[in-house]
Amino acid sequence: MNAITNHLPTAELQALDAAHHMHPFTANAELADKGARVITRASGITLTDSEGNEILDAMAGLWCVNIGYGRDELADVAARQMRELPYYNTFFMTTHAPVIALAAKIAELAPGDLNHVFFAGSGSEANDTNIRMVRHYWAEKGKPTKSVIISRNNAYHGSSVGSGSLGGMSGMHAQGGLPIPDIHHIEQPHWWAEGGDMDPEEFGLLRAQELEKAILELGEERVAAFIAEPVQGAGGVIVPPASYWPEIQRICDKYEILLIADEVICGFGRTGNWFGCQTMGIRPDIMTIAKGLSSGYAPIGGSVVSDDVAAVIGAGEFNHGYTYSGHPVAAAVALENLRILEEEGIVDHVRDVAAPYLKEKWEALTDHPLVGEAKIVGMMGSIALVPNKDSRAPFAEAGTAGFICRERCFANNLVMRHVGDRMIISPPLVITPAEIDMLISRARKALDECYAELQKRDLL
Ligand code: PMP
Repeated sequence: MNAITNHLPTAELQALDAAHHMHPFTANAELADKGARVITRASGITLTDSEGNEILDAMAGLWCVNIGYGRDELADVAARQMRELPYYNTFFMTTHAPVIALAAKIAELAPGDLNHVFFAGSGSEANDTNIRMVRHYWAEKGKPTKSVIISRNNAYHGSSVGSGSLGGMSGMHAQGGLPIPDIHHIEQPHWWAEGGDMDPEEFGLLRAQELEKAILELGEERVAAFIAEPVQGAGGVIVPPASYWPEIQRICDKYEILLIADEVICGFGRTGNWFGCQTMGIRPDIMTIAKGLSSGYAPIGGSVVSDDVAAVIGAGEFNHGYTYSGHPVAAAVALENLRILEEEGIVDHVRDVAAPYLKEKWEALTDHPLVGEAKIVGMMGSIALVPNKDSRAPFAEAGTAGFICRERCFANNLVMRHVGDRMIISPPLVITPAEIDMLISRARKALDECYAELQKRDLL
């Protein structure tokens, strides 16, 4: 088998896939039973599968295809770069034009003095870089005991040993000996699920103050950094109360803890600004980037760091790097993606057109009997499915309603993801109001069908 196999019948592709391909984050029994959905092509916001179904991708792949599918400019740039210089590394005092141009462009777009980029192949790798970088930073400053990184339960920072440890996913920690030492998790600002009778803003403040409590308990001399997603993505698009981030910033400033904003999802326009930290009004020392950096057209990520961090790390040799740090083809593709985002005003489109329109339609979903709350920032949104709209009590059997809803979405040619009983979206940023109408009408149909199924199974 050495050719791309789109021409084979779906069943044959599925059988080969099941025999040889190990899938990430997949229920394998279900996969073997049903066979994987085979995606053959994509354009704009629409995927086509091997059966000819046209599916509205309200997740932009894995939150990454910010400019939409099928942009020839990126393919042309990749082909040109592959012919000219398909690969060279950036170790041992070498460089090349694509990585130079991309680093300079990121420095121009990034806020404050985040002027330096250490490249990686993915968000996970970039967060692994961050773990080593912040610990090395404090060691270089003569404070080697500052090695603890504080993160949050239900955060997602990647799947490698380091980044999976930073994340707060219990299912991941249960496998493979995670977390590594000196990672400490505090609670998340998830008012809907955990806020009880408290006012959301009061709850947000309380959850932020857990950071201060943790620093005092661990000892200031032990804490290196705090890492968080401006808006938690994979945890369920959890939008923190407005009180949360200012308090986190205050605490980081007070104790001189490095603040790492994991912008892997929020970066490059998703929240209506170039970066989520701008939407949340915070000043990180380090940003993790990936996904929207290349709109997913090529694997690339990185750590964008402040002048201060770069000066300390750059004083000696940082014994760290990946074969594909600053890969020339990925860098050229990312640069072209940023050109399109900028020249086509896509971040402005999000802020001025798509996000306000989507917000109105998304929040109106709370008129549905299954929908308890709807949250949205820019182009990332979530709804909580509930058995009874009068309380925030969850379903007795967590995750079933979400799973059924996701299946009904697929059946209606819509990709929405479920996190337990939360349905989440993160569509391509180029989505138009007419396409948003289509997204919402398919979502409503899926919700109706899910409701009927839950009634039939006596789960309401
Ligand atoms: N950080 C965040 C916030 C993410 O959402 C993700 C991926 N979903 C990652 C890190 C890891 O990125 P990657 O899958 O590219 O390793």
